[in-house]
Amino acid sequence: MVPSSPMLNFRFVPLLWAIVISHSLVAALLIFAASPIEPLNIVVTIPVLKDLTEQVGGSYVRVTSLLSGYENEHTYSPKPSDLVAVRKARLLFEVGIGLEVWVSSLVKNAGSASLLVVTTSKGIPLLRDTEHEGTAHAGEEGERGNPHVWMDPENAMTMLQHIADALIAVDPAHATEYRANQAAYLRKLAQLRVELSERVARVTDRRFIAHHPAWPYFARRFGFQIVGTIQPQSGSEPSALQLHGLIATIKKDRIKVVVSEVQLSRRIPELLSKETGARVVVLTTLPGGLPHTDTYLDMLRYNVLQLANALEGL
Ligand SMILES: [Zn+2]
Repeated sequence: MVPSSPMLNFRFVPLLWAIVISHSLVAALLIFAASPIEPLNIVVTIPVLKDLTEQVGGSYVRVTSLLSGYENEHTYSPKPSDLVAVRKARLLFEVGIGLEVWVSSLVKNAGSASLLVVTTSKGIPLLRDTEHEGTAHAGEEGERGNPHVWMDPENAMTMLQHIADALIAVDPAHATEYRANQAAYLRKLAQLRVELSERVARVTDRRFIAHHPAWPYFARRFGFQIVGTIQPQSGSEPSALQLHGLIATIKKDRIKVVVSEVQLSRRIPELLSKETGARVVVLTTLPGGLPHTDTYLDMLRYNVLQLANALEGL
């Protein structure tokens, strides 16, 4: 009474194949659904966020930065094309801390229900603009911290974490890649920090005059000292009295360097230089603002090396 097995096989093989094929189809469909063919559309406010997002997201993201690197982040006003970009985006990364005061109305006007806005400075301990009574970057609702947090690589690590978390939240299928990219970038950042700290350690006089209050996080991390700031508040010109005070400080304390920024007018830095003999070095707070500053790491390296060289009279 043993059933004839060749007979069974003959009858069941097509059925088995059908089951196998249908399972593979389901599996293929699942993979297909979990990994969009199109990269994720992401909008960021400033170029440093574009670079950090691309470092983590690789080929799975398409990032548009609203500012290109040449504009002033405090006085920017969105273009019609920015609205289009925000409408298409799944994620929007901003710094926060009142830096991009223009973002909330842009997001409101875009009216996209699926857009997720992520404030990448969350959790970063803020510095006040102590030299100028903490009001230099007063944002909305009493936020009074200095918003230039990305100028310290330690803070950039926190921003990178927010970016990676957000990418994984909207695209969990690539979580492994995002985490691996994040880890690889952190290693590069750590290596650069060591290299730059070693350079700064050889500089004996690390004092400088800043143009706008963008440098306190940078100065603290790398051991530079800001002894005066040309713009007491971002976008405001100093009074004649304040200029006089700066000139007196530079002469009395023998300050050798005035740091200007490519996004700002060089008129006052040049005037200070003419009056005191201090030299002007032009740096950038936004990647892409100057040659050799296309990435965040390049920008950090450029700023530290140029400033160190200027302080040593090289
Ligand atoms: Zn600024």
